[in-house]
Amino acid sequence: MSTSQVSVEVLRQHLIDPEICIRCNTCEETCPSDAVSHDARNYVVDPAKCNFCNDCISPCPTGAIDSWRQVDKAKPYTLAEQLGWDSLPAQSDVDAGAEEIPTEVARITSVATAGLGGDAFPPWSAAHPYVNLYSLDKPAIATVGGNFRLTADDASSDVRHIVLEFGGAAFPVLEGQTIGILPPGVDATGRPHHVRLYSVASPRDGERPRYNNLSLTVKRVTEDHEGRPVSGVASNYLCDLAKGDSVRVVGPYGATFLMPNHPGSSLLMVCTGTGSAPMRAMTERRRRRIALQEGGELMLFFGARVAGELPYFGPLLKLPKDFIDINLAFSRVPGKQKQYVQDLIRDRSEEVARLLAHKSCNVYICGLKGMEAGVAEAFRDVCRRHEMDWETLLPALRAEGRYHLETY
Ligand code: NAP
Repeated sequence: MSTSQVSVEVLRQHLIDPEICIRCNTCEETCPSDAVSHDARNYVVDPAKCNFCNDCISPCPTGAIDSWRQVDKAKPYTLAEQLGWDSLPAQSDVDAGAEEIPTEVARITSVATAGLGGDAFPPWSAAHPYVNLYSLDKPAIATVGGNFRLTADDASSDVRHIVLEFGGAAFPVLEGQTIGILPPGVDATGRPHHVRLYSVASPRDGERPRYNNLSLTVKRVTEDHEGRPVSGVASNYLCDLAKGDSVRVVGPYGATFLMPNHPGSSLLMVCTGTGSAPMRAMTERRRRRIALQEGGELMLFFGARVAGELPYFGPLLKLPKDFIDINLAFSRVPGKQKQYVQDLIRDRSEEVARLLAHKSCNVYICGLKGMEAGVAEAFRDVCRRHEMDWETLLPALRAEGRYHLETY
């Protein structure tokens, strides 16, 4: 192996910052090599298992996962050491000079960050987001300003529009960011419940401009993805809140799933169910600025079981046709064929292809994890039909901060 000054072999060790981490479990769920684990105190990375794929980096809401230390490769921080930390250790002298990094290790690092699962970027014209203003130790205390059912009375699901007021506390958010809710109480093992993340459903100037508030779209979870009965801790807590109740909030989080600010920029939005929250925020931002005639197009693909289960159905349909191109896919209308958002993307392939090819168009996908592959496949088909190559386009869109994915 070639080095210019070989004293020790250096490893750029992947770590998790315990001061910022909100213990939301996203990294552990994402890691394909099972390198991330946790105990009651910390989330940690096993240096023997981490292969630097960086799949965990962009889903981490806080950025705690993006922590690194140059260490002697023979003596990385052990799991036992990491589990005992309250904060990251200072960088030791081992990184005395960049030239001491063996070329092989440096190459592995750079290949890892170039991977598709790695870095995500915001649109170039996005506003600068504030992140991590409120931590687990010092959450903001919000007051419930309202809790309204969005789904029809006879709908099987209870989806709510919840308004949180921050009073004199600064809680600046941008469309597309998330906040963390700390449910009160402890879990079955006696530990405090971990943070649950929700997308902000209101624009940056608030649910009601100048009232220092924001809104969330929350579905009461009564079953898991396989249909087995469960009671969602945070969703039931939130859905049962009454006006005037106090809620502990951390965040905000998210620095890439943001909207472009430049005139003429377009949004191609694809969502299912409560994944509509950030789309509502972005659409409402644009609606409030309609008089400025900044140009650009809005195209929305929105999937729900039936119309009565589609959050914001009424207000959506009142938006002017020349302001937003709305495509609704319903999957469980009695007597009708099941329809998913990806079916409508194919139906509208000409307009979708035109937007995908447009340098000022940003793509947003939010909702069920299962839609991710189906939507990508639909985009691939659209490209095929219009002499574009999805395999080339997707990495370009990502590198340009024009392809944004948030699925759970
Ligand atoms: P849902 O009601 O279960 O489903 C919405 C629609 O998506 C239904 O029509 C469903 O059809 C369809 N669907 C199911 N599988 C699909 C697939 N593979 N491709 C395309 N469409 C598919 O949705 P939900 O319960 O509201 O779930 C929304 C998701 O968004 C959750 O995972 C949530 O965590 C996530 N999310 C929420 C927020 C928030 O702030 N609340 C933010 C971001 C993301 P079927 O009839 O087949 O079920």
